[in-house]
Amino acid sequence: MSARPGFPLPVPSEDSAPFWEYLRQGELRLQRCLVCATFAHPPRLMCPECGSFEREWVAVSGRGTVYSYVVTRQAIHPSFEGHTPYATVVVELTEGPRLTSNLIDVAVDDIQIGLSVEVAFVAVSDEVTLPLFRRS
Ligand code: ZN
Repeated sequence: MSARPGFPLPVPSEDSAPFWEYLRQGELRLQRCLVCATFAHPPRLMCPECGSFEREWVAVSGRGTVYSYVVTRQAIHPSFEGHTPYATVVVELTEGPRLTSNLIDVAVDDIQIGLSVEVAFVAVSDEVTLPLFRRS
């Protein structure tokens, strides 16, 4: 995948900026609470479990399985025309947290819940590297 004109890209927030910066460096790191060790993704100011503001950015394996997915067959945005069908997947990492992403190199009809996947760092602009997933 490469950047396409008009393709909507993530805009880092104050809370998610470290997530995107680590991705640019080729690392998948997720926010984890220093008090109760709960992962929080997407990143946020406060731990969803205990309310602590103390957190760290922990490197995770990038390995997991497809927890759920949906296939889009009709372009709902002009920049997606010619790129359908595509699948939006929810990957459950071995560490537990789930990420919403896309698969690369897997035909939509070959996707199954439980499929083993691993992260692939795909730079789509100078600022944004996406954590996509491929079969492992
Ligand atoms: Zn906590």
